[in-house]
Amino acid sequence: MKRSEVDRNQLSPMMRQYMEIKDKYEDSIIFFRLGDFYEMFFEDALTASKELELALTGKQAGLAERVPMCGIPHHSYQTYLDKLIDKGYKVAIAEQLQDPKETNGMVDRDVIQVVTKGTRLDYSLSEKDNNFIGNIFDFEYCYGVSFTDISTGQFYMMFLEHETEQLLREIVNRNMKEVIANSKIDREIVRVLRENYSVMVTIQDDIYSANDYDFLFEKIQDIRIITTVRHLLAYLAETKKGNLAHLQAIEMIDVNQYLEFDIHTKKNLELTETMRLHERTFSLLWLLDKTKTAMGGRLLKINIEQPLRDRKEIERRYQIIETFLTEFILTEELRKELEPVYDLERLVGRISYGNLNARDLIQLRNSLAHLPAIHRLLEELHYDKNVEELNELYDLLQKSINEDAPIGVHEGGLIQSGYHQELDELRKIRSGSKDFIVQMENDEKERTGIRNLKVGYNKVFGYYIEVSKSNIPLIKEEFGYERKQTLVNCERFITPLLKEKENIILGAEEKIINLEYQLFMEIREQVKQYMGRIQRIAKVIAEVDMMQSLTKVAEENNYVRPTLTTERIIDIRDGRHPVVEKVNRIDYVPNDIVMGKDTNILLITGPNMAGKSTYMRQVAIIVIMAQIGSFVPCKSCTIPLFDQIFTRIGASDDLVSGESTFMVEMKEANRAIQKATENSLILFDELGRGTATYDGMSLAQAILEYIHDKIKAKTLFSTHYHELTALASTLPNLKNVHVSAIEEDGKITFLHKVKNGAVDKSYGIHVASLAQLPASLIKRAEEILNIYEHKNQKQETFTQTSLFFDFEDEKKEEPTSNEALEKLETLNPLEMTPMEALSALFELKQMLKKK
Ligand code: ADP
Ligand code: MG
Repeated sequence: MKRSEVDRNQLSPMMRQYMEIKDKYEDSIIFFRLGDFYEMFFEDALTASKELELALTGKQAGLAERVPMCGIPHHSYQTYLDKLIDKGYKVAIAEQLQDPKETNGMVDRDVIQVVTKGTRLDYSLSEKDNNFIGNIFDFEYCYGVSFTDISTGQFYMMFLEHETEQLLREIVNRNMKEVIANSKIDREIVRVLRENYSVMVTIQDDIYSANDYDFLFEKIQDIRIITTVRHLLAYLAETKKGNLAHLQAIEMIDVNQYLEFDIHTKKNLELTETMRLHERTFSLLWLLDKTKTAMGGRLLKINIEQPLRDRKEIERRYQIIETFLTEFILTEELRKELEPVYDLERLVGRISYGNLNARDLIQLRNSLAHLPAIHRLLEELHYDKNVEELNELYDLLQKSINEDAPIGVHEGGLIQSGYHQELDELRKIRSGSKDFIVQMENDEKERTGIRNLKVGYNKVFGYYIEVSKSNIPLIKEEFGYERKQTLVNCERFITPLLKEKENIILGAEEKIINLEYQLFMEIREQVKQYMGRIQRIAKVIAEVDMMQSLTKVAEENNYVRPTLTTERIIDIRDGRHPVVEKVNRIDYVPNDIVMGKDTNILLITGPNMAGKSTYMRQVAIIVIMAQIGSFVPCKSCTIPLFDQIFTRIGASDDLVSGESTFMVEMKEANRAIQKATENSLILFDELGRGTATYDGMSLAQAILEYIHDKIKAKTLFSTHYHELTALASTLPNLKNVHVSAIEEDGKITFLHKVKNGAVDKSYGIHVASLAQLPASLIKRAEEILNIYEHKNQKQETFTQTSLFFDFEDEKKEEPTSNEALEKLETLNPLEMTPMEALSALFELKQMLKKK
């Protein structure tokens, strides 16, 4: 049954109410509150029951057929909600706005918030990642892009050229989970964002018109900025509905102030996640992250995604690391003080948004407790920023909030005794009366002589005196017992005195809960006054934490301070790839990268597996680390500041868009050629591999010549076309290096050592033999190679010679390995234990040896 086909006149009033709400939130799944459940209907019910594995049932709604329905209990809705959001749905939560007990007829319901990927605020947000939501305002000649993390309040704005590539890069590299675009946007961009990068896109033109958020752009005049931000605000206000007073003043990002790289580069260099498993582990971020706080972790990630180009700031960071390294005792102390500091940014979000509880305030208090020590340490370390100590706020929380307060705020237990006189008095009454109940039980036992008499309490009947069946005859008129409830084994009674006490106790209880809630809200209001100051503290703590993390990594791995030069020189001695060196079990072989003023292109040759790709990546990673303000993995490092990095590394077929490796390759190469300046770094790894040899080689050569003559960017170009090494004689700014390998007894050992000059032999065939390709095939390859190496021979030659070659020979030549093969065929690895597999392997080796 489809919602759109239903005759609304027949519907029950409640279902009509549902329809009206759903009309307003067509693109969201509606969680429709009905008593203790959130119910979903029609198509929503089908979707949710499938995604959440819920039973699909039906509801009588006035129609002949029942309406499809599924439901979740409201007290455990969060995990269901998270699941739907993770899967990319929007969920609108429609609550009952009135207490059903206090209304005759149907209660009002409306959506209190819409939860989306970019606007979620739940506790399942990863603490070391920002959750950004952004917008694209297409001004037709440029894009306004603003983005915010509403859990922390950070709010940024930038202008981009009207160019798809750059726009995609900024959205994806900055990890925006959701984007709002105005309707002028090119739908192809929307498609790519949705399909290739799973970004949730909503097209909408509303502009927020009220003035509540003017504090975001107080000092800003540019109407385009205000329009862009208001465009995003319209969506935030519509979805969140709550107060977003914690949003912070817009920070302008000038994209020209940062080291730029495209989406592929971020992926290829494994900056924040690995290529294969998409995991943080073994990425650069993983390596550099020794942060103690969530804030520091998030800032570090932002910096890796957006390294600097600002020499002064970079040098400042080097200097901080240097000081931290020298003052290692103070720094270690600082780390200890940072460790317990709670996520202040997200806490401020909760203060303003309203879902704050007493435990958050305890965490806040515990964090504030460390500010004086952090303040002192930063002073002793001559750090150029510092944190304010919020002593008054600390004192307030210290004396008001109960140490083991519950998560909920409506059940009392929030406020300490001694904080509020009336509360203390009410509590005294309550506990006095509770003592009275105990006393009463003893008194009544004595008075009645019924030894197993009990005074108890339940929610429906309140306090009662319980007497077992056998003792009922002992109850006398004069006791004044009034029968209240009869159970199987006992009866329950009340007395006027008991009722009187009950009123006092329950009255006190209710007053306590209300008063505690009221006091808690007052304290929250006071904390609210500190929002801006806490946010400023959070910023400093995040930075200090990031810097101590970079220091720690530098210390543990022997990194050095880079020297930034204004000359176009790269001089890295004994450079290492920081992640490979950390992860590989074998010793890493350090390598120099030297490109003087007159060297713009390094042409890197060497056999497969020699270490060409690693060498190139290592250079890019060192540059990125240096421009984050980190020390770098080498003995010494002199580099200029780069404006952009371009890479074409490895085979990253764009599976989603269905483009071939070669097409992707050429597109990436083209981007570099179009955009690179002489201050850029280009890495081309085996460019042209995706096409036929002569095609690929000619293209590679043309590209090299073009970069050499026109762009002059520092370029690392690895190739397996040895013919290209001859270019050194015609291109004066191109230098050959090679990664060597040694050959012994037809076997090859990789030294991973990069040396000057061109390599004279391809070891590809040896690698193939290492990989145990059939001996006859290897032989044939050597024969073909021989022909190639005699340059004067023409291409026809090798097609002709193949007439004399018979792959059938193989069988006759190698009976032993065939026997082994036959044996191999009979094995089923899925049915073998590891021990059986191992002994079978031995057996196979034995067969081969016999030969
Ligand atoms: P190529 O690109 O030349 O085929 P790779 O760069 O992919 O080679 O490296 C091949 C293998 O050698 C990788 O597994 C890598 O970990 C290892 N390797 C590369 N360079 C080094 C080095 N300098 N020291 C130690 N191992 C290295
Ligand atoms: Mg390679």
